[in-house]
This record gives sequence, structure tokens and C-alpha cells, in this order.
Amino acid sequence: MSALLTDRFERRHTYLRIGLTERCNLRCVYCMPAAGIPVQPKSAYLTADEIERLARLFVAEGVTKVRLTGGEPLVRKDAVAIAARIGAVPGVEALALTTNALLLEGRLPALKAAGLTHLNISLDTLYPDRFRTLTRRDGLHQVLSAIEAALTLGYGTPERPLKINAVVLRGVNDDELADFVAWTREVPLEVRFIEYMPFDGNGWADGELVPLAEMRASIEAVHGPLKALPGQPEDTATIFRVPGFAGTVGFIASMTVPFCAGCNRLRITADGSFKVCLFGPTEISLRDQMREGASDDDLHRLIGGAVRGKKAAHAGMDVLAATKNRPMITIGG
Ligand code: SAM
Ligand code: SF4
Repeated sequence: MSALLTDRFERRHTYLRIGLTERCNLRCVYCMPAAGIPVQPKSAYLTADEIERLARLFVAEGVTKVRLTGGEPLVRKDAVAIAARIGAVPGVEALALTTNALLLEGRLPALKAAGLTHLNISLDTLYPDRFRTLTRRDGLHQVLSAIEAALTLGYGTPERPLKINAVVLRGVNDDELADFVAWTREVPLEVRFIEYMPFDGNGWADGELVPLAEMRASIEAVHGPLKALPGQPEDTATIFRVPGFAGTVGFIASMTVPFCAGCNRLRITADGSFKVCLFGPTEISLRDQMREGASDDDLHRLIGGAVRGKKAAHAGMDVLAATKNRPMITIGG
């Protein structure tokens, strides 16, 4: 691990998340502002060559895990080809994808061949009408079918974990937590409940946030005590199991139990901006630098400076709610 990706708080950044596009085939209420977002021309997004160049540069400096996200990464026509190019970079030990799964099923065999090791599928409800309310589109059937296909292809094992991400909103889907957990009785999924986070345009109100402690209590009321499983300092989720169940339950409590101290993540947005913190508005356009002819040394200098400027922790949910940042759909989670 070089010093370039180690910050002032001795956090070593080994995990890079890359947005492939800001476009999406869903309109989730907590992510996409109701008014939509101004659509950037595709030329604003990094090309596959630019993405591979940056991936190689970061991997040479110690990154071992790369996640593709968005927007919806799979609406980009060359998403599978990009996955294959990154999967082939020496030093990439884990290649991950976060997707809403609408376009996943047909692309899964090619993604697996590209080296996809970690698959996260976003799904907030098991009811079709709620799916429509939450995502402003139909599609529950495709998501469930893609999950089945992923299990059949060998995802849902320690080598190829399959995680289901559900953002929990009070009064919308907070009565479904025990049903999601019941899914893990026989199926080796990790169901992860995410606290609702404030981003520009998502109408965040802290009354809609369901804190981890409350989520856990509602699950334990049905399934009994959850058993904590050991984790790593860089984990975003705290993981539990209902004793005897095949799968696990995770909580991502960015708001009530921030995990900044162990953060090992860096982000590149679809339009090529480098972000050292999901909640930090500071960004540098690596795209503009590359298109103006920056050498790898120039990029190193910029990246190193940004990493050294990373703050110890985010500012807390009330400050974040009042801070200007991008909408989530343009950051990529
Ligand atoms: N389109 C892909 C998907 O939905 O999986 C990838 C991009 S999406 C922005 C990445 C993750 O961010 C999803 O799991 C989504 O649920 C989560 N997310 C979006 N807005 C959020 C918010 N306001 N609070 C918490 N999680 C959010
Ligand atoms: Fe699209 Fe994912 Fe955001 Fe939903 S959470 S609008 S699927 S980018």
C-alpha cells in the first residue's frame, strides 16, 4: 500500500466505487429528486478507457476492491465490457456491482465471466404496489427473478456474496423488516437495512428515518434475539444472524452510528469527479484533468492532495441535511 491513499487519520483506502452513469430506469423517491435531475450529455461521463485508466492508477496504489454503481450502471451499454476490463486489472481482488436488477438477469452470465465477485441488489419492498410507489415504476417481478438467477449462478456464497439493500422509510416499508429477514431462513442472502440519508432534492425529513435500534427491535419482536457476527473496522454494516437461519441481516446506520473512523472508500462519479467522502461536497474533476492532458503524475498529485484533505468524520445528520451536496443518483451510494 503506497502512502498516496492513506489519509491523516491513518485510514488506508483500498476500496474504489465508480459511477458509470447518472441515468436510471427507476425513480426511487429517496434518491432521484421529484423534479428529476438535469441530464448531462453522455460525453460528460468518463469513457471506458478513462475509467480503466483511473482504475489501474488506483489499483497500483493499493485499491483491491472496485464497485460499479450509478445511477443504474446496467443502463450503460458498455457496462459489462467495463466490468470485464476492470476485472482483468492485476490486483483487483473483488469486483462488485450495485444494481436495481431490472436489467440484470440477462447480463449475469457475462458479468460472472467478467469476474464479478460481489453483487448488491437494491430492493425496498416485497409488495408490487409499494414497489411502484417507491420507485415510481413497475419491476418487482424482474428484480425477484434476477435474484433467483443470481442464486442459481452461484451468488449467495462466502466467495460471491449476494446482498439485498433496502432503504427503510417510516410509514412506507418499515413494517416489512421481519418479512425480509424471514427470506434469510432458507436463502443465503444478506439482507441489509439502510437508514435513510439526506441528499439534495430527496425531501429528507428526520421523521422518516428509522434508526437502527428501532429496526432491530421490530425484527427481534418476530424472530427473537439477533446474534451479532464479527466484523471488520471498514464495514459499513453491522451484521447479525437469526440463530439457525442460512442468511444474515445487516444494518447500515450511517446516520445514527456513523462508521467514518474505519472508512476505506473513495468515489469517482460518472462525470469523473473524485470524492473522498459520500457526504462531503468537495470534489475534483479527474475527467477535466485527463481531457486536458494530465499525466499520471499530475493525477497522483491531485488524488493524494484530496485524500490528505479527507475529514475525520461527516458533520452529523442535521448539518448534512442543510449542506449542499449532489443528489444521491449522481454520487452512486
Ligand atoms: N441504481 C443502483 C441501485 O439502486 O442499486 C445503484 C445506485 S444507488 C444510488 C446505490 C444505493 O444507494 C442503493 O442501494 C440505494 O438504495 C441507496 N440510496 C439511494 N438514495 C439513498 C438515500 N437517500 N438514503 C440511503 N440510501 C440511499
Ligand atoms: Fe435509480 Fe438506484 Fe437511485 Fe433507485 S436508488 S433511482 S434505482 S440510482
